[in-house]
Amino acid sequence: MELTELNEHFSRVLAALKEDHAASTIDLWFKDSFVADFDGRTVTVALENDFKKNTVSNRYRDQLKQKLCEELNGDFNVTLITKDDVAAEESSIFVSAPQPYVAKQEEPAPDENDSVVGSGYTFENFVVGSSNKVAHSACIAVAERPAGTINPLFLYGPSGLGKTHLLFAIVNSLRKRRPHTKVRYVTGEQFTNELIDAITKKNTALFRSRYRNLDMLLIDDIQFIAGKMVIQEEFFHTFDTLYKLQKQIVLTSDKTPKEIEHLEERLRTRFEMGLIADIQPPEPELRTAIFKQKTQSLGLDLPNDVLAFLADNIRSNVRQIEGAVKKLWAQSFITSEEITLDMAKSVLSDYFSKERSKITPDLILEMLSKRYGMPTDEIKGNRRTANTVYVRHMAIYLIREYTDLSLNNVGKIFNRDHSTIISAYKGVEARIKNDSDFNKDLHEIKAELDEK
Ligand code: ADP
Ligand code: MG
Repeated sequence: MELTELNEHFSRVLAALKEDHAASTIDLWFKDSFVADFDGRTVTVALENDFKKNTVSNRYRDQLKQKLCEELNGDFNVTLITKDDVAAEESSIFVSAPQPYVAKQEEPAPDENDSVVGSGYTFENFVVGSSNKVAHSACIAVAERPAGTINPLFLYGPSGLGKTHLLFAIVNSLRKRRPHTKVRYVTGEQFTNELIDAITKKNTALFRSRYRNLDMLLIDDIQFIAGKMVIQEEFFHTFDTLYKLQKQIVLTSDKTPKEIEHLEERLRTRFEMGLIADIQPPEPELRTAIFKQKTQSLGLDLPNDVLAFLADNIRSNVRQIEGAVKKLWAQSFITSEEITLDMAKSVLSDYFSKERSKITPDLILEMLSKRYGMPTDEIKGNRRTANTVYVRHMAIYLIREYTDLSLNNVGKIFNRDHSTIISAYKGVEARIKNDSDFNKDLHEIKAELDEK
């Protein structure tokens, strides 16, 4: 049963409750309530806040259940939640990460939505390297030829690597070159909140006209809607309408469509219809280039040893790179001191979540040995079965990433020359781009290492 239909039943249930109680008290406790989910057995009803949820639970739960069962002609359970639960901040990491460019608005008016797109995020100031090249060119293609060949465009990758930047760049480029294009940028969370709002105010028609008359819809962090039945259902229809009208859709997520848990199958297949492009943590050259660009834009001129130190230590996240540069800038501004390696080390100590020196080749080898049940001698040795080579290459890659050993010294551990080490490292880099299972494995290992 569709949720819209279910909500019509729900209105009748509320009317029935008013026959037994004063209409004003039912209105009070059930104000803005709606059916948020139904899995065939349990009807999930969202109340306005915790207080109302508790009151309804204490006073009306049994009657509510009874009336719902009568209305729906069956035996169902009732679960009570709050509206906030519906929009639960599953991805609170995105919310808490500093994102100064998102002007926080209570409720973005439909057509003022553009104001949340920071104009400072362009293709020109996005530094391109091998880890983000495909995503970058795909976004340019979409900005130049909306709904050309790439539709939908699905970008994924860990937080802080430039997905939002690229979406803003698309919007900014369109605004400049095709100012009449109807574009809407929202986050998955915003889409969710707007829809809940529309449902409670009973003006879903407005919501639909807002989302279905667009030339381009960009939804950032779409994983937010996963597991939320009403939202996914509405988004499915939004997607289909736009897609059939040959309008451009761009989505981002922290995971591939396959990896997003509780994502409806029909959405997953649609997300996979166009191009899926990943963004991976920046490789050393790109990190240095981004540091250079960020420092130059602040008018800072960092000595090479400081740049090298930063690029070596701040690895996974471009947002951190920016933060680090700003912190250095502030420190040197306050103290009027030149930025030196020592200053960088002391100012940025909290950016280094781990002391890299603690992670040694032996520790990496032992960890992999335990993880894959393979003796360290085999990892370092000459066996060439697929499994052994997989673990060996993983070890080489991690040792390069986590320690300061030269290629020759890494080679010594494995009894191989430095060109073999380079090709193993490159092999892993290539795999990172193409193999999501491998990536998952790597992420788990890195997470474990990061805890050491
Ligand atoms: P995500 O949406 O993937 O979490 P963001 O787009 O918010 O990441 O990026 C975090 C910060 O890093 C932003 O300020 C962005 O401008 C910056 N950034 C990320 N990648 C790059 C890049 N390749 N070049 C320049 N700045 C970047
Ligand atoms: Mg983002």
